[in-house]
Amino acid sequence: MTTFNFCAGPAMLPTEVMQQAQRQLCDYNDLGVSVMELSHRSAEFTQVAEEAEQNLRDLMRIPDNYAVLFMHGGARGQFSAIPLNLLKTGGKALYIESGQWSVAAAKEAAKFGDVDVRDIRIGKGDIDLSLFGDTSGYDYVHYCPNETVDGVAIYDIPSCNSPLVADMSSCILGRDIDVSKFGLIYAGAQKNVGPAGLTLVIVRRDLIGQQHTATPAILNYQLAQDNDSMYNTPPTFAWYLAGEVFKWVKGLGGVAQMEQRNQSKAQALYQFIDDSSFYRNEVNPSFRSEMNVTFQLHDAELNQRFLAEAESQGLLALKGHRMVGGMRASIYNAMPMAGIAALIDFMDKFAQSHQ
Ligand SMILES: *Cc1c(COP(=O)(O)O)cnc(C)c1O
Repeated sequence: MTTFNFCAGPAMLPTEVMQQAQRQLCDYNDLGVSVMELSHRSAEFTQVAEEAEQNLRDLMRIPDNYAVLFMHGGARGQFSAIPLNLLKTGGKALYIESGQWSVAAAKEAAKFGDVDVRDIRIGKGDIDLSLFGDTSGYDYVHYCPNETVDGVAIYDIPSCNSPLVADMSSCILGRDIDVSKFGLIYAGAQKNVGPAGLTLVIVRRDLIGQQHTATPAILNYQLAQDNDSMYNTPPTFAWYLAGEVFKWVKGLGGVAQMEQRNQSKAQALYQFIDDSSFYRNEVNPSFRSEMNVTFQLHDAELNQRFLAEAESQGLLALKGHRMVGGMRASIYNAMPMAGIAALIDFMDKFAQSHQ
């Protein structure tokens, strides 16, 4: 039986990447040691690090005036790092709330400075982008293009009169985007990139250097940039694995190709849900996430049985977030179409036997 892991994060990694890592685990490039046993300053690891950065730059077409930082601490680490680095003395940030994660980011930022919050949610599963409102005069404007818990996505990059900061933890490399529209993009690695802990920060260089004097050194963008993300020991094994994932995405044809795959996967699943009277999705179709598909059973009494039977069929981690309930299928880049087909087949049979 093939197992498909629908966990929201840490999420499944491409099988080919895991097999490659297994082959190299104890003996990297005939060095007789593992990549995780190498000095981060060795020539061998430097090559791993530089190649990973270059491949990410190629995949996302990241302009030269942006730094790419490989940091620690996950997206939540950046919830603190962003205000500490970008808020100027006496300055102000705007936080757009569209779901659980953007709300959490705003709450953390408010510890460090002056923050305006705008909630753009209008009822269940719906948002109104016009509620971004006037975005001028802020040190930065923060939003979350893919709300992992709610299954709500914002696809059009908002036009913004201040540097735009995006939490792309659950959608980076999922769609082709124009990086130059952003001041800063960040992502915890554990959804679309690699193992948890590693955190990507893509930041326009002119925004670096405004940090608060009390900014912890390991969250300081200036130090990270000046030391090639090696001010302290970086998460080297996670960095290596992320590099292997970037190669894998390149090998499949790049981000535009991932985008097409992701759209077909999500479309198939939403179509099945919409055609069914047994399941429903409550998100406005314009804002449905291609990465996290939330759905409810009409009879919530059947939830436990649904999850148990799914698991017995090798379909793992479909339980929705505790704040939302119901089900959630996280279908990031690494999830093959075969996983979607297996899920739809199971959902169909389950519905027929419990109508
Ligand atoms: C998972 C997730 C986070 C939290 O990431 P950590 O690495 O656990 O800090 C934040 N934002 C979004 C959009 C996420 O999906």
